[in-house]
Amino acid sequence: MKEDYYDILGVSKDASDSEIKKAYRKMALKYHPDKNPDDKEAEEKFKKAAEAYEVLSNPDKKARYDQFGHQAFEGAGGFGGGGMNMEDIFSQFGDIFGGAFGGGGFSGFSSGGRRMVKGSNLRIRVKLSLDEVANGIEKKIKVKRKVQAKGTTYKTCTTCNGTGQVTRITNTILGRMQTASTCQTCGGTGQIIDKKPTNADAQGLIATEETVSVKIPAGVVDGMQLKVTGKGNDAPGNGIAGDLLVVITEEEHPTLKREGDNLHYDMYVSLPDAVLGTSKEIDTVTGKVRIKIEAGVQSGKILRLRGKGIPSINGYGKGDLLVHVNVWTPKTLNKKQKEFFENMREDEHFEPKPESSDKSFFEKVKDMFS
Ligand SMILES: [Zn+2]
Repeated sequence: MKEDYYDILGVSKDASDSEIKKAYRKMALKYHPDKNPDDKEAEEKFKKAAEAYEVLSNPDKKARYDQFGHQAFEGAGGFGGGGMNMEDIFSQFGDIFGGAFGGGGFSGFSSGGRRMVKGSNLRIRVKLSLDEVANGIEKKIKVKRKVQAKGTTYKTCTTCNGTGQVTRITNTILGRMQTASTCQTCGGTGQIIDKKPTNADAQGLIATEETVSVKIPAGVVDGMQLKVTGKGNDAPGNGIAGDLLVVITEEEHPTLKREGDNLHYDMYVSLPDAVLGTSKEIDTVTGKVRIKIEAGVQSGKILRLRGKGIPSINGYGKGDLLVHVNVWTPKTLNKKQKEFFENMREDEHFEPKPESSDKSFFEKVKDMFS
């Protein structure tokens, strides 16, 4: 069972934004790795608090969490796997501590100058049908990622003696200055490769193909990017793996057009069907649905099927399916059909007599967006 985010921060469910921020600040200072070197328990508490704050400080995520609990972030969001990584945590520090921990980024995490190295991120495109977007789906994706080759061993970097930093003395107009910079030999990790298999690259990495399972929540939008933590390229040594970024591409549906969370469907009705009424089967993202067309339907009428659209990515309900009625007028007629319509033309009953309920197209569009 995952711990409740409010319990982790020690605040009540109706705590204000500033109370949440204050509680997190207190915990982050108490359990910060720089204050608790080599204390796994403190590090765990530090990470948990950061994850709780990440959610509770974001109005959208907080609303989702309040409604669905931890389930709201399974799969996509990035918390599904191993929680937040240190880089994520320090990148959120800026707005809370105003640089109290110096440069932010990894520098906050470093102890004794050594840097944590993160592997590079990978980006992959995933094509989804509209049905998959509407219902959510778990996709198995083949990813070409670099992993640490078996048999690679490391030793302490001799340039920096494992500190990850080299100091230089320079003479300036202000006197002698000592500057520390990242060791170029080991890239700041303090370690270099001792032995590696012949097929590994200079960093001791080897290219592999891995199938990664990605849970895509319902309601994603074309171009949206989901993060799978730790499924990018590995880092050498004891660094942490990069992330896999999954970019969503939405395929066009043959009959349904998406507009935000709403869907539009163009329905064509014959003249007799419009006059006499009928029922018609239409596509929806959850299968076919038969809808009733009242006798005397006007071209341009919009039938609204509530909740038959796309679920909101934020978890707030679903869009609608708007069915646009188009009465289809034949372009050609045979002699008999022509006589039939000419007879009707002489009948006053067929003169247009629009009622106030037969709103014009423009009034309907105005209604839809109000
Ligand atoms: Zn070094």
